Amino acid sequence: MQAHANLCRKNGKTIVLVPTMGYFHAGHLALMREGRKRGDELVVSIYVNPMQFCAGEDFETYPRDLERDLELARQEDADTVFMPDNREMYPEGFETRIDLEKLPNHLCGPCRPGHFRGVAVIVAKLFNIVKPHTAVFGAKDFQQLQIIRRMALDLNFDVDIIGHPVVREADELAMSSRNSYMTPEQRAFAPALHQALKKGQVLLDMGVIDADKIIRAASEIIGGRPDVCIDYVAICDPDTLEDMKLIDRPALMAAAVKIGDTRLIDNIMLNP
Ligand code: AMP
Repeated sequence: MQAHANLCRKNGKTIVLVPTMGYFHAGHLALMREGRKRGDELVVSIYVNPMQFCAGEDFETYPRDLERDLELARQEDADTVFMPDNREMYPEGFETRIDLEKLPNHLCGPCRPGHFRGVAVIVAKLFNIVKPHTAVFGAKDFQQLQIIRRMALDLNFDVDIIGHPVVREADELAMSSRNSYMTPEQRAFAPALHQALKKGQVLLDMGVIDADKIIRAASEIIGGRPDVCIDYVAICDPDTLEDMKLIDRPALMAAAVKIGDTRLIDNIMLNP
């Protein structure tokens, strides 16, 4: 992959990277389409990165369908699909970690200790392997996007980081490879997550600017079922991810819930 990237660069091509864990849905394909427009060589990586899964999470059972993914990447006109294996990515003796001081302390960080360290390490490795000029990430994983922006800035990665808006199902559930875990009954309830976030903007439009009140109202929409566990509902500064008490400027409203064994996340911007 590095030799290929070097050759592309020598030939004056610009490289765009779309990192994924595979099991493509329309969200991944939208990122590829965005990437396709932004450079000559579109590289899609597929790698289920063990370092970003915590103990007890779904690393073993994460859905995989390489043949289908390859066909879909081909249809999106990807030039290269990079699919490393664990021994290549983490050979014996691997011991480097990348930790950010503050951004991982919010939202998903406390529920998933070590997750963003794993993300930072794998993205840094992918940047050094694929040597992209541009990389595209989804805003569904808003905290991840901010952490990668910060890391790229702090460590002088010469890569333009592009954020792509959340791609949703017809009922506005954010697309996710993990949606396939849900029973039909859970799937029918799942759009409540986005409805809860939209309630935030409705209340804000009615003049409610107290973040706690909005969080309580949103939690009522998603909680209350025996198989639902709310990890968090938060309203925070979109850059620092620190909690906001009063919504007197644009804010990020984000939530994570477990429906049965399926962990879902979503976010929207609140605009006063
Ligand atoms: P994943 O394969 O889930 O790790 O996701 C790979 C990339 O696709 C990440 O940058 C995600 O943020 C992005 N992504 C996943 N789901 C969506 C979605 N529904 N809308 C936009 N981007 C997404």
